Parts: sequence; C-alpha cells; structure tokens
Amino acid sequence: MSVLRLAIATPLRRLFDYLAPPGISREQLALLQPGQRLRVPFGNREVTGILLSVESESALDDSALKAAQEVLDPEPLVDATLLQLGLWAADYYQHPAGEVLSALFPTSLRKGKPHQRLGEPAWQLTVQGKGLPEGALARSPRQSQALAILQQQHAVSRLRLRDCGISPSIMAQLRDKGLVEACDIEEPVASPVPGPGLNLNPEQETVMSRMASMLDGFSCHLLEGITGSGKTEIYLQLISACLNRGKQALILIPEIGLTPQTLQRFQQRFTSGIAVLHSGLSDTQRYRAWEAARKGSASILIGTRSAVFVPMQQPGLIIVDEEHDDSYKQQDGFRYSARDVAIKRAQLSGCPVLLGSATPSLESINNVQSGRYQLHRLTQRAGSGRLPDIQAVDIRRQALRGGLSETLVKAVDDALQAGQQALLFLNRRGYAPTMQCHDCGWIAECDACDARLTVHRRQRRLRCHHCCATRPLPQQCPNCLGSSLLASGLGTEQTEEFLKQRFSDWPVHRVDSDSMHSRGAMQELVSEINRGQACILLGTQMLTKGHHFPGVSLVAIIDTDAMLFSSDFRGEERMAQLLTQVAGRAGRAEHPGKVLMQTHYPDHPTLQAMLHTPYAEFARELLQRRQAVGMPPAGQLVMVRSDCRDAQRGEDFLRQLRERCGGKLPPGCALIGPLPSPMQRRAGKYRSQLLLTAPDRQRARHAARLLVTQAESLPARGDMKWSIDVDPTDVF
Ligand code: ADP
Ligand code: ZN
Ligand code: ZN
Repeated sequence: MSVLRLAIATPLRRLFDYLAPPGISREQLALLQPGQRLRVPFGNREVTGILLSVESESALDDSALKAAQEVLDPEPLVDATLLQLGLWAADYYQHPAGEVLSALFPTSLRKGKPHQRLGEPAWQLTVQGKGLPEGALARSPRQSQALAILQQQHAVSRLRLRDCGISPSIMAQLRDKGLVEACDIEEPVASPVPGPGLNLNPEQETVMSRMASMLDGFSCHLLEGITGSGKTEIYLQLISACLNRGKQALILIPEIGLTPQTLQRFQQRFTSGIAVLHSGLSDTQRYRAWEAARKGSASILIGTRSAVFVPMQQPGLIIVDEEHDDSYKQQDGFRYSARDVAIKRAQLSGCPVLLGSATPSLESINNVQSGRYQLHRLTQRAGSGRLPDIQAVDIRRQALRGGLSETLVKAVDDALQAGQQALLFLNRRGYAPTMQCHDCGWIAECDACDARLTVHRRQRRLRCHHCCATRPLPQQCPNCLGSSLLASGLGTEQTEEFLKQRFSDWPVHRVDSDSMHSRGAMQELVSEINRGQACILLGTQMLTKGHHFPGVSLVAIIDTDAMLFSSDFRGEERMAQLLTQVAGRAGRAEHPGKVLMQTHYPDHPTLQAMLHTPYAEFARELLQRRQAVGMPPAGQLVMVRSDCRDAQRGEDFLRQLRERCGGKLPPGCALIGPLPSPMQRRAGKYRSQLLLTAPDRQRARHAARLLVTQAESLPARGDMKWSIDVDPTDVF
C-alpha cells in the first residue's frame, strides 16, 4: 500500500496522509516526487496539498484515509533544496509546515490552479495539417493563407496571425477540421548584458578579488562599508561574475517601493533578464516574476523579504542589502527573518551569500568574530564627500512646542529661509514610553534591575519588563519634586500640527506608514523632494531607508531620549544605526549639513559615544555589553504572545503555559512574564507576552518546541489566539 504524506496550509502543526488518487497506475505512483501538488478533500472543502513523501503505511487506521483526487503537476515546481529550506524554516520558527510550504508558491498555484508556462498563446499544425499538400483549401483563401504561414514556421503566435489579417474564427475553423492545435511559444531566455562597470578603487578591488575566488560553494560574507563607499558597485560586479558562470543571482532589498533608485541602478547595468518581486505587484505580475526565476529566464531576481523563498533554477549568489534593516523580519503570521533564511538557503544551495550594510547588525558582527562570516571593509567614500556635523541640543527646562525646542525651530527656520530642506525624525519602532522629568531629566527606573520602567497608561502604572515589578505613576519628580513629568514620545500628528502653523509658507510632508500606504505616494514624494524645493519632512524610520536627499541640510532627531532610554535592549543599536544612516544620506558632498539631537541628557556617555565614535567601533562595544549579559546575539530569545479581547484571559493563558513548561525547560533557560506587550491594545485586542531566554540556539530550539507543544495542548478559550516568535526583534 502507498500512502502520500502531504503538507497542507492549515494552522495545524502536522502533516496529512492520503491514499493515491483512484486510477493512478503503479508506474505513475513510482514516479511521484516531493514538491508535486495534489488536490485533496479536506473537511468539506477541496484544498491543495504538497507531496513530501510516499510512505508504505500510515499512523492512521487505513479505513480512515481518504484518497487524493488528482495530481496537479506532472513534475514538482519547486526543487528539493527549496522544500528542504521550507521545512527547515518551519521547524526553526515553529510555524506550521503546510503554511510555510504553501508560501513557496504564488497565489494561483496555492489555490490549485494549473501551472501555466509563460508563453505566448500560439497555433501550430497538427500531424494531419502537416500532411496537407500545398495549395490545399483553395476554396477558402483565408484558411489557405493561414496554412501557408504555419507551413513556413513551426508555431505562430495568435497576435501575429491576427496582424496578418487572419481572424480567430478562421483559426477555430481550422482547428475544428483537426488541422491546427493551440500551443505556447516559450519566452526566449533573455541573457542580461552588463553595461561597463566602474573602475574599482583599491579598497573595492581588494574586496572583489577576495570574493571572486569564492564564487563556488557556500561561504558567508559581511561587507561593512560606510554610506557611499561603493557597496552597490561591488554587488553589480559580483552579479556579473555570477552570470558569467551561467548562474542566477538573488538580491534582497528592504523595501523596493520606497527605493526606486536602487532598482534603477540594477536595471541600468543589466538591460534584461531582471525579475522584480515586492508587495506592490498584482498576483499576475508576481506569478510572472516567480516563474521567470524558477525557469531561469530571469538571471537576476530582486525582491523584498518574501523573495528569499522563490525557486531558482541555478542559484549562484545571494546578496542581502542593508542587512541590518528591520523590514527583513516578518512581524506577523509566519515570523521569519529573510536575512537568516537567506544564509540557510545559500548553505543548502552551495553558493556564497553577501550581507552588506553601513551599519551591520550586532548579529552579523558577532558572526564575524566567531569566524562564521568573512569581513570585508570599505572605509572611504567612493565619490567625494564629508559626513555632517552632529550636535546634541539640551532641552531641559526649555519650552517645547509640538516637541520642538526654540533652538530646533530656529534651525528649521534658517534652513527654509536658505531654500533648503529639513528632515525631522520621530522614532516609532519598538517604542515603549518611559516617564521622565522635564526639569531635571530624572527617569523612572526599576529598583531591582538596570532598566527603565515602561508607562502603561491603561493601568496607570509603571512596570519593569525584566522583573515584572510594578508601581503607580508618580505625581511629582522624586528627584527635584517638580511636577513637569512627561511620558516620552509624542504623536507625529501633534508635531505635524505645530509645524504647519509655525511654517505655514512651506510644505510639510508627513512620512509614516499611515500617510505612505501606497507605493505611488512614496515615489511621488521622493521625486518632489528631489526637485529640491525648500520643505519640511517629518517622518519615521521610513525616511532613512536607502534614500539620498541632497537638498536636506538639516536633520533633527526630536525624541532622542525615547531611543536612548528605550526599554528594548536593541534601542541603542537601532539609534546608532539610524544616526549613521540619516547622517550619511543628507546633504551634498560640498554641503554635508547638520544633525541636531534633542535630549535631556546631552552628556550621557552612550550619547557621547555615539556622537564621537564611528559606528563600526561603537557597535563592537555594544556587542561586548550584550555578550556580558547574555542577550542576543550572545543568547537567544523566543517570545510567545497572546492576543485577546479580554486582557486577563490572555495573561492567564500565558501563566498556565509558564507553569506547564517551568520544570521542563533545558538548563540555563528562563521565562519572563507574562507581561502586557508594549503596544498592548491593538485592533480592540489586548496583547501579552511570555519571553524565553536561552543561552544558545540549540536550547532555544528545544524550548521553543516545548512551548509550542504545551501551548497547543492548553484549551484556548473564546477569541484567545497565541503566536510564537523565534528571534523576536521588538521585545519589550
Ligand atoms: P553604497 O552602496 O556603499 O552607498 P554606492 O555604490 O551607491 O555606495 O556608491 C556611491 C557613489 O559612488 C555612487 O554614485 C557610485 O556611482 C559612486 N562610485 C562607486 N564606486 C565607484 C568607483 N569605483 N569609481 C567612481 N565612482 C564610484
Ligand atoms: Zn525632576
Ligand atoms: Zn526590574
């Protein structure tokens, strides 16, 4: 007996067994391969399953097994390596394998639609048609003409026939006579022609020659190069080298919709054979890009994070640009890091992977130190250009309007009067409000931990996210007894309102995920900014992604303290990355511009270190501190979140989970919580979290499996939902 073991997209963390479809022969059965899609009955629906293996028996009683209905693909559309990658990711991120594997396919294939080759619809002669003598069908001149055309060429596209004046109905008549049949003309494989590269400078030359000798087989590289040092030029030349070997290159970039310039540079260098994948595409466009990469008719695939799961015929190189960027991490559903999956993919495919950034993540720096990655450095700007001047602005006891001090308002005014642009930055990511005294700078800290307390407005309490200590919101500052306590962090709206009033003669553009929901909106804004008219840009992290703004002469960070005192352990790393990124993108070579940071702590050692130490050095200091306390990348984290209309019920669920797992955790692992999540209320639901800390990957993995098994066995009541996040990025 043969049992087909399938992955099916459901939240259930298991595989499903089916009998072979009725009528399938023994030979056909023997030819089935992992990765083929089948249509199967599932409950009272029909769904698409992905074959993983053919087994000789099932754990289920045979009589309970249903038969699959149909094999949908004559051959698997994804190869064994990609299946293996999907299964690895499902296990590593503890996400149901069926959902992960079905995400390897575009929507139409997931829904069980037939696989379509990317051809043009055409007509060709049947055997009978080929046998006709010349001059046959003379009584119908149109049919005879069509026949003559088809006799000269193997297959002719429908469009061309129509251009020759032959209507579809003529072709239908020929088909009904059995003389012609429909077919597809395959899209020709377009081999990209690289334009000439730049002459590399000596630093770039060194990187190229080291990398070029490692294009065969798996290796992992970090390209740490300051903004404008010519990393992209290295990517382009490595891709050329990869294509010359007849292989394909995969390039991941953070958000294509926001950075049309990056894409343009690739398209200028390689005039054809580029497939592009990002969230702004229609299903059909996505399908075409997917199929082109799979078939190999696209030699270069450029895409955002989900492109890491697109099949490729001959992967020869993977590049992850701006590898530190948060957007590589998917924050809901299947929570994976595209950067980390890219590394696994390179390993399974036996090709090199290159991570590039001006501000590499501490994870990557750690991997360099442990010898897993090779480090390549670019320290000189490829063009000319200096970095801007960065200053801290002391705002203690200063009047703030919309969060802006007089000093900052004046600086904005000066920039606008001089016809220049000002970029004002408000942090919103991974943001948890802390309580601060505006008069003396006092900050509410935990008595037991080296950590700031987080404001929970709903409960009107301060809480420590490390030890769970809690106390009521204070009414006055315990340090100076003043009453100017404020919760750090303003809404973008308040600041925008003030700017519009105060600088009513100039445009104020707000750039955040609310105002820039469409790809077009951001592109329009970017081209408006590039026209160079004086204006104010008020935005979040979005503004720092890959843009170069030559007209910006002033960059200001409004709420430096919110980042400096972020309760998230990644706060300082993110802030240093942000500073370096915005500073590197503002201004022209001759006018590098100015960066102002508003703070109550102008002398804070961390802030001073950021101002005076290059990122590369500062990041290595931060890494040492993380290593000392066992936080990632030195230790590992796994987060379980609950999501429920009833806050209490969510916390209860996590508490039970904690009790069940407590005694069974691998040694060195610990659980923190349950605690309300920093952004506790979302879409009318309350979110709580239980955090697991583990000393290493292996134990984190064991613990994650335990958490999932236990969570699945707990009764989930009402609308309570839970999720697991391995290597979470927004933690506290
Ligand atoms: P990065 O990706 O590190 O920010 P880019 O590759 O965008 O840097 O390079 C910055 C600028 O310098 C670009 O305008 C690029 O065309 C130019 N550039 C890069 N490499 C060279 C080179 N070898 N010679 C001349 N100009 C270069
Ligand atoms: Zn005070
Ligand atoms: Zn504490």
